[in-house]
Amino acid sequence: MVDRPMTLMAVHAHPDDEATGTGGVLARYAAEGIRTVLVTCTDGGCGDAPGGIKPGEPGHDPAAVAELRRGELEKSCQVLGVDALELLGYRDSGMMGWPQNDAPGSFWTTPVDEAAARLAELIRRYEPDVVVTYDENGFYGHPDHIQAHRITMAAVELTGTPAKVYWTTAPRSAMEEMFRVVKELGGDWDEPEEGAEMPEIGLPDEEISTWVDVTEFGPRKYEALAAHASQSENIFFLNMGVERFTELMGTETFLRVKDTTGAELPEKDLFAGLR
Ligand SMILES: [Zn+2]
Repeated sequence: MVDRPMTLMAVHAHPDDEATGTGGVLARYAAEGIRTVLVTCTDGGCGDAPGGIKPGEPGHDPAAVAELRRGELEKSCQVLGVDALELLGYRDSGMMGWPQNDAPGSFWTTPVDEAAARLAELIRRYEPDVVVTYDENGFYGHPDHIQAHRITMAAVELTGTPAKVYWTTAPRSAMEEMFRVVKELGGDWDEPEEGAEMPEIGLPDEEISTWVDVTEFGPRKYEALAAHASQSENIFFLNMGVERFTELMGTETFLRVKDTTGAELPEKDLFAGLR
């Protein structure tokens, strides 16, 4: 047991989320000799097909998109130094309100207990000290992100294994600048269905428990994002160029929701109190 490597597990919904949300910490902790495990819950089949073809449009084959995205995910993991990639293989549920939400085999329709049991098996195998996932709103309301949150919290409950559990978040103070940059670059922010309200994203700065400096790994994160070349949603981030990207994304922020170490808050390290 004592010989077990210190381990970080990140649980994400789709291929590319590992890069956007946690690319910095995955790269940083891998460089520090910590074992990193990525669990990706869905196949990403509701992403764009080559040529920017959207799901449901003629020429969009979800199975082909999933296969393409799997290759991109493997490349991203290589860039980030991820030691183990585990795929739960559920079907991408699409954005909230899409018919794919209720398609057979979609992650959204999978009972939480069933998927949580599979994740619990992985937690027992890798015994992560730290687990990272999304908040209860899946950060921005995507059904697969919400489901990833639910199964992670259920699996943590089932196993009791990780000493620390975190939800990714963003400081409200940075959101305005982020929206401005995205708009300036012509990006579209995965907005909810027309008429629906934009969910509140991120947290007031004073509520954020954990600020990890990943500036050094900005270029790595940028390259990992670039590996997901088929997904136009990422392109506006890449349009910033690596320098501005690193500047804007140089700190990854988290809310600590489980802790057995007693590490003082706010902290600058997901592994504070563990080493
Ligand atoms: Zn996603």
